[in-house]
Formats: sequence, C-alpha cells, structure tokens
Amino acid sequence: MGAGRAYLDWNATAPLHPAAREAVVRALDTPGNPSSIHAEGRAARALVEAARRDVAALVGGEAENVVFTSGATEAANAILRAGLQMACALVPGAALPARPVIAAAIEHAAILQPIEAAGLPSGYRIALPVTSDGLVRESALAAALAAARAVAPAQTPMVLLQLANNETGVIQPVAELAALVREAGGIVVVDAVQGPGRMALDINTLGADVLFLSAHKFGGPKGVGAIVFARGEVRLQRAFIAGGGQESGQRGGTENIAGIAGMGAAARAVRAMPEAPQAMIQLRDEFENRLNHLAADVEIVGKDVSRLPNTTCFAISGLPAAQALIAFDLNGVAVSSGSACSSGKVRSSHVLEAMGKPAWIRESAIRVSIGPDTSRADLDRCFASLEKQLARRRAPGQSASAA
Ligand code: PLP
Repeated sequence: MGAGRAYLDWNATAPLHPAAREAVVRALDTPGNPSSIHAEGRAARALVEAARRDVAALVGGEAENVVFTSGATEAANAILRAGLQMACALVPGAALPARPVIAAAIEHAAILQPIEAAGLPSGYRIALPVTSDGLVRESALAAALAAARAVAPAQTPMVLLQLANNETGVIQPVAELAALVREAGGIVVVDAVQGPGRMALDINTLGADVLFLSAHKFGGPKGVGAIVFARGEVRLQRAFIAGGGQESGQRGGTENIAGIAGMGAAARAVRAMPEAPQAMIQLRDEFENRLNHLAADVEIVGKDVSRLPNTTCFAISGLPAAQALIAFDLNGVAVSSGSACSSGKVRSSHVLEAMGKPAWIRESAIRVSIGPDTSRADLDRCFASLEKQLARRRAPGQSASAA
C-alpha cells in the first residue's frame, strides 16, 4: 500500500484490480448499446456476454443463469421482495402467497432490511440463532424449518445462508445446511459476497438455488453485482426492474457495461487464484499471534472455527473501537470497527450481538481485513499504532494529536 497508508479494510471494499480498471476503461470507450444490432452494439454486447461467462465460471455456474445488478444489495432486494414468490421447479404454479423466510440475525443489512420491509404475516419471519462462534447449527435450522412448516404447511420456505460473515470472517457450513433445506423442500439463497478472492466456491457444491455477488469485494468496480441461479428453471417470477427486457427479462435498463466488464475481469483474475495466497494467510496468522501477546485481555472473534483467511475481528478490553478507529486513521491505517459502519457512524454490531458477545467486545471490536497486496509493513504499521494506543491507555492524559 503506497502513500504512507496501510489499507486493511478489504471486506468493506477491495482495491480495484488493474485488469478490472483496464476492462472498465475499454468498455467506457465502447460506444454501442448492447441491445443495438449494429457492429457497435454487438461489440458492447460481446463485453457483457464475456463478463457473464467469467462471473458464471467464478462460481461454477452457467452464463445464461447470471443476471447483472447494481450490487449485492439490489440482488438481495430483488430476490427477497419481488422474488419471494420465486418460480422454480420446487414451486409449481404461478402466483403464490407469501412464503416463510428463515434467516440468521448475523446476515448483512442488505438481507435483513428487505425481509423487514416485506411485511410478512406474523410467524413467517423466522430467526435462526447462531452459536457464540457465529455458526448456524443444523439443529437450529431443523427447528426453524419445522416452525415454517407449522405456520405455512403448503408453502416452500426460503432460507438465507451467508457464506462468510463480513465482520468476523466466520464461514458457515453452507453445503450441510443447504442439504437440510433441500430435504425439507425449501429454497436456498446464499449471500456469497465475501467469498470470491478469499475462498473457492461453487454454486452446486454449496447446494444453493441462487446466490449473489458484489464486484467491489473482489477487485471489481463498486456499484455492480450479480444474481446467479443454479438452474435454468430457477428465476424470479417477474422482472424486478420492468423496462426494456434486458438481462433475460429480469432487470430492465441499458446495462452498465463498464461495471459489468470490470466485474468480469475481476472474476477472471480471482479465478486464476481461487484460494487465498499462502503468504497472505501467513501474514494474518502472524498478526494474530502478535495480538495474542500484546495484552492479556485480547479476544479474537471466531478464532476456534473456520474463518476467512483474510479477516481478524478482535477486541481489547478498555480500547473502545470508536476512539481506536480515529487513532488508526491518524496513524495512516484504515481498518473498520466490527460494527456496520454504513452511515459513517460507529454502531453496535448486530452480528456480535447475535453471537451473544458481552458489551466490552461489542464496544471494542475492530476488523482488520487484508488482501493479496497487503504487505508485512502494512500490518507492522497497524500493530505499531495499536501499541501506541495501548501505551496511552496505560498512561492516560496525553492529547489525541499524539495518536
Ligand atoms: N452481503 C455481505 C456479506 C456484505 O459484506 C455486503 C457489503 O458489505 C453486502 C451483502 C452488500 O453489498 P453491496 O453494498 O456491494 O451491495
């Protein structure tokens, strides 16, 4: 990371990959509309379709089952709002009344808010509890599926599963959970946003009916994402943006060809390196070792379960995240609090709350998330800032400018 700063917030957004930048610029210079039949239009169409193949290949899917969106939030809204009555092989027939939705409280706001807004009948919104490590247990899912059957015996429940949590990096056993949902005849929707670039993923191995992605989490531009259906017969029942019939009739509007081309290039780059590089894993592990020796009261969230190899969510007692973030920033280190920071304000983390973490962890949780470009010097800088902050905690009364 140049310019004297260490960017350690890859789970918020990953830096643009050079191949994605190149693809974006090339697409911006492509004058045609992909729906036009002339040569310029066909050139623009070719960019979109190449990117569709690359995004499909990233998750082991088929190009014709990819629908581009403006990001994961739009994708989740489309699936959860318009698509709660998803037409798929599991659900014969057309118009259906609302179906029960099962989701864990650790899901991203992009999922929780549309569920909230769906105005489901009482008992149709079923919360999945998680363990203190942030995992959904099969027994909890089985109970939720039974509750769904009890409230709406004739309906197919929709189950939202998060591949990996953006705050803690904890990886859910999605394939095992999805198998349970299938047995119960339910629909599996997977938020795979934090997967690409951090872990290999395959839509069929996961057992998802549909998953969604966001380009900027793996080196693509911001404001573009995709829904990927597992099979041709799984589709949202109607267009979630009505318009000119683009995106196989699911999302109207002239395609964001620069964003889509950038997403495709990032997908190709990530696919060439499906597992996180060993050097990156080693840097993360070293960082955590140093953390553990820094103070007696350090908690690394999810340390005992399977986690993304790039994420450390930690808390140090007496070091509130709100102040720590400012100090890190002044020291040239970009990290996040464990909490969602959607409006620039530090709020208590709904994820850590759902995991039943005590107040001191919720108030002190800091997320360091790295990528293949992260250097040892970046993490040294982060660690030095932390040491400085702790020294000040032990000798209070120094001014903030010394941060
Ligand atoms: N799901 C997860 C797990 C995320 O981390 C994010 C972004 O932080 C989203 C969904 C929403 O993605 P976007 O803001 O790109 O639409």
